[in-house]
Amino acid sequence: MASDAPVGVFGGTFNPVHYGHLRSALELTERLQLEHLRLMPCASPVHRQAPDCSAIDRAAMVELAVRGEARLRCDPRELHREGPSYTIESLEELRAEFGPERSLCLVMGFDAMLQLDTWHRWQELLEVAHIVVIARPGWKLPTSGVVADWLSRHRSSAEEALRLRPFGSVRVEELRPLAISSTEIRTLLRSGYSARYLLPESVLNYIKEHHLYC
Ligand code: ATP
Repeated sequence: MASDAPVGVFGGTFNPVHYGHLRSALELTERLQLEHLRLMPCASPVHRQAPDCSAIDRAAMVELAVRGEARLRCDPRELHREGPSYTIESLEELRAEFGPERSLCLVMGFDAMLQLDTWHRWQELLEVAHIVVIARPGWKLPTSGVVADWLSRHRSSAEEALRLRPFGSVRVEELRPLAISSTEIRTLLRSGYSARYLLPESVLNYIKEHHLYC
């Protein structure tokens, strides 16, 4: 892949990371021809309760999950910042590292996009990166409200939009639906059931060794 190809950033709690995240990350990397995609565990989430598993453990599991796939990486930057993990601040750091010309793509789920107007400095996100929204079959864009207005102004279906400019477009990508969630995995483990084949074996081994979700 060209060294000036877009870089993707996929934020999440990853409590724990699973094949739904990983498969989406890989499909997006190939479809959008990203140079690589960073899974960025959130240290201190703003929109949900603090996870019961430390950010260090969640990042360690992401590290294990992407090992052996050079196009996927773990970006632990939010672990090194004090206070709430604001995505805009991470994107600004990445922009400073990659320079003004490099295309950066923030990846988020459809559910997150619907609540985007609750994010810290949300109107500024597109001044730093593109946004790629992962949609499932049957998705429908909102038709009213601030997020709907924002989408109609910025959405682009042109394939090349993400490479022609470093930031500023919204793209919706429909991906293979894998009905896996971290909540379900935690519930299975806490109930004494196996979570095998829902997440990498290396991550399951880490969970066992560190007595997580029991
Ligand atoms: P939880 O069940 O704890 O809410 P989760 O499985 O939804 O967790 P998160 O870490 O909250 O995982 O999600 C990070 C991002 O991954 C979100 O944008 C979410 O929409 C997306 N995501 C979660 N599960 C899947 C999946 N099965 N396929 C594709 N994307 C997913």
